Amino acid sequence: MLPIVQHPEAARPFVTDENRSPWHDSALWFVRSKRDKQAASVPEWEYLRSVASGIKTHTIAHLPFYLREFEKNATARGAVVHWAKDAAEHNEIVLSILRANKTQRIVKSKSMLTEECGLNHFLEDNGIDVVDTDLGERIVQLRGETPSHIVLPAIHIKKEEVGETFHDHLGTDQGASDPQYLTEAARGHLRGKFLSGEIGITGVNFAIAETGGFVVCTNEGNADLGVSLPRVHIACMGMEKLIPRQRDLGVFTRLLARSATGQPITSYTSHFFGPRDENSELHIILVDNGRTKLRESDTFRSALHCIRCGACMNTCPVFRRSGGHSYRATVPGPIGSVLSPARDASQYKSLPYACSLCGSCTDVCPVKIPLHHQLLAWRGELVGKGLLPWSKRVSMKFASALFQHPRLFALSGRIGRTALRILPHWMTHNRLNTWTIARELPKPPRESFSQWYQRNRGGESKLDSRSDSGNPTMETRR
Ligand code: SF4
Repeated sequence: MLPIVQHPEAARPFVTDENRSPWHDSALWFVRSKRDKQAASVPEWEYLRSVASGIKTHTIAHLPFYLREFEKNATARGAVVHWAKDAAEHNEIVLSILRANKTQRIVKSKSMLTEECGLNHFLEDNGIDVVDTDLGERIVQLRGETPSHIVLPAIHIKKEEVGETFHDHLGTDQGASDPQYLTEAARGHLRGKFLSGEIGITGVNFAIAETGGFVVCTNEGNADLGVSLPRVHIACMGMEKLIPRQRDLGVFTRLLARSATGQPITSYTSHFFGPRDENSELHIILVDNGRTKLRESDTFRSALHCIRCGACMNTCPVFRRSGGHSYRATVPGPIGSVLSPARDASQYKSLPYACSLCGSCTDVCPVKIPLHHQLLAWRGELVGKGLLPWSKRVSMKFASALFQHPRLFALSGRIGRTALRILPHWMTHNRLNTWTIARELPKPPRESFSQWYQRNRGGESKLDSRSDSGNPTMETRR
């Protein structure tokens, strides 16, 4: 059984790193600001978001139809289409293709689906040499880590640390941190890997049912290099990556790069329509892995609209400060906190609480997924499933009783204000009260809002009038 993710504990090392956490925060805020400028430069931005959301809603509603259409058209172009119900089946299909081609070395371009399926470890356990060719992915691979962000996999690593990693693995100068020098070293290293790769694996950004083709977007051109030399190309895609028509594609490519990195377009938007030539093979693996179950949910279905731009992570105040690894999930951040509990509510029950409900993720999502509403809905689901920690259960019951009894509420306010003034600091700030670990409490006011309102507005607040059958409350009599 996988360990239960407790986001607050998992986030602690990152949050308490006084240099890294603010640096990570500002690096991602820079990307978010670029996204804002790009969005503002497109007058029809909101219209594009609505169209994209409509296309996705339609596609997911008719998914079986479009999947069949895609399979028919891709097959007609000479591709071999495989279906995988889960991660294990996906990995076995990849391995069977590699074995059929007697392959020992593969070059892989960035694909969150293969991360989700744990493909690298699976292949390495089967004696296959896997090289991630996206620079950020290669850095985390060399460090034995997982990506911390779906678009910027090494955003948590500083350039000095990249220098150390390259010194250890690629033999670059010790202490080197010049990005140009390090990038050239990585380029030389990867060139050899591209030349010796026997099979290329890519993800899929968009698959088009109408044509049976698909599109892969990268900024480094590594997907193109990775599949141009080998004879066999394996494309791994989640079932939700479909769009119905070729002419829908422009809507998404305009939204994707602007939302992801604040670029007008990704540097390489490569279209694949069948195998390269009669001597080549193209395999497309359509993966379910929980997507059908998610599609059945009225509340969370629209999470399948996600085009993996990462904008919700760049804007999320919790993600920016706690880092992607604190989510212990392939897809972190707001969308990951919706998707992960759908896969295993018990394991990921703390993620819907890794959210301030500020709604910024919903505002930036290019396909209009109501992310913060879904995170709130997850909290309700977790209560229904009995997965709320006892401390929250008890405190919520207590709060509910308090809010239903105005006199009790007024009394507890009075006690609280007095207690906070006279109690010694150690009694309010200790290990039992996690809320105050990094916070000082504000100085309590001498009067309640009701009292203030009575005094300044001369009116009668509802709280006071309900609390004692029309008589002044205990608070106002004081
Ligand atoms: S949920 Fe929206 S903002 Fe977040 S990664 Fe997906 S498409 Fe982008």
